[in-house]
Amino acid sequence: MTTPRYLTDDWHDAERTFAVTSPATGEVMGHAADCGGAEAKAAVDIAWEAFEHWRAVNPFERAATLRRWHGLIMAAQDELGRSMTMEMGKPIREGRGEAAYAAGFVEWYAEEAKRVYGTWFPSHLQGKRLLAMKQPVGPAFAITPWNFPAAMLTRKAAPALAAGCPMIVKPAKQTPFTALRLAELWVEAGGPPGTLQVLTASKPASVTGVMMADPRIRKVSFTGSTEVGKLLYEQSATTVKRLSLELGGHAPYLVFDDAELDEAVSQVLACKFRNAGQTCVCTNRIYVQDGIFEAFAERFAAAVDALEMGDPLADGTDIGPLVDGAGLAKVLEHVDDAVAKGATVVTGGRATGGRYYRPTVLTGVTDDMAIMHEETFGPVAPLARFSTEAEAIAAANDTPFGLAAYLYTRDLARAIRVSEALEYGLVGVNDGVPSAPYAPFGGVKESGIGREGGPWGIEEYLEVKYVSLKLG
Ligand code: NAP
Repeated sequence: MTTPRYLTDDWHDAERTFAVTSPATGEVMGHAADCGGAEAKAAVDIAWEAFEHWRAVNPFERAATLRRWHGLIMAAQDELGRSMTMEMGKPIREGRGEAAYAAGFVEWYAEEAKRVYGTWFPSHLQGKRLLAMKQPVGPAFAITPWNFPAAMLTRKAAPALAAGCPMIVKPAKQTPFTALRLAELWVEAGGPPGTLQVLTASKPASVTGVMMADPRIRKVSFTGSTEVGKLLYEQSATTVKRLSLELGGHAPYLVFDDAELDEAVSQVLACKFRNAGQTCVCTNRIYVQDGIFEAFAERFAAAVDALEMGDPLADGTDIGPLVDGAGLAKVLEHVDDAVAKGATVVTGGRATGGRYYRPTVLTGVTDDMAIMHEETFGPVAPLARFSTEAEAIAAANDTPFGLAAYLYTRDLARAIRVSEALEYGLVGVNDGVPSAPYAPFGGVKESGIGREGGPWGIEEYLEVKYVSLKLG
């Protein structure tokens, strides 16, 4: 076995380690470095030094390094896909897809590095020239979740590096190896020492505490639960850090009477069951209009029943295991609560051993059930009825969360009207999988602050500086 390592300005052998378990087999698949406060402090010193150099590197050169990184990630697509599948259990097809999606952010921001434009603008005073320029915000710190081990890292690191900010990443404890492999590829691409650092840890607060308290960390980007996001929001106040928070959701899917049924079924299916429902933008509650409720429920349940559950490394698998015992426990709790309050299990509704839970459809759900208020983060689809558009919009917005919402209709006016009325950061119209590296991603209300992706994503790592020039 090779000694577990972590990356700062160079690779270091771990003094302490923790075990990483495969959710599919329950077996220990390896050990990762267990970094703490001392490693975090050293990483900030290194990032601060690297910033002086990296910010001064010509943006075309930064772009070229990112382009090489993109090429290496794509060349390692299968390997990275496999690594994610083994660490967190997503089906291998999705693992490979995520590797390409992750590379997509790197490619996009390689281009954006060259397009950080300033503006000359007029003054009301004669003889003055005014300039707004953009500069890198400074050393950045990212905390990433286990459900997208590669894409959440590149969605943060690529715009930071393109803008001239060194990035320190603390990946989730379930998925350290994918993060370390991406860091290796950055080094191979010619990324200078200290520009991308990866500190794996079993006790996140020992690393994040140092980062949040140090004034040299100018920007923090977090993807994870709303609970931890709120904690980091509070901690960032001490040194007034720039903050991006991509937090939990509770996505509604509104299926209107005029939907093309088979297409609606396949979009809702893709939206709900990818990654076994462990995606922050997975729909968590599906509202179907009265006129098509029975027909939709029947076809949807048949499609869910046909999903192949099993070994996530097998090519035909649609549904793998849940990430851990806590994830499975939450699914059991939500289904038990719904059934106790009168819901009917149309298909699924049972754990099948290990961390596997059969994809499930519930009908007869009511607002008092936990599943209609909280993110399940598992393969359970509750179907509720609605009569009018106004009723559906009110139900969709009746939540403290506001990340993603979806609707299916063939009526263009309704599509626009409902999209405008939904209090969400992103809306999929007849589209159950809308995320893309070049599109803005982020939530409103308790789902977060800021946007990642596209031209919006790099702005999070840039400050605007105003220069006023009085001609002599
Ligand atoms: P989580 O517990 O908040 O963990 C996310 C990250 O935060 C991990 O790296 C974790 O480290 C770290 N962390 C945990 N406790 C911490 C603390 N006290 N201080 C600092 N860092 C801490 O979230 P999760 O349950 O693993 O992930 C699922 C959640 O993420 C869901 O709510 C989902 O909706 C959300 N999510 C949101 C988006 C989005 O873009 N909006 C995308 C994906 C997921 P450890 O792993 O070591 O505990």
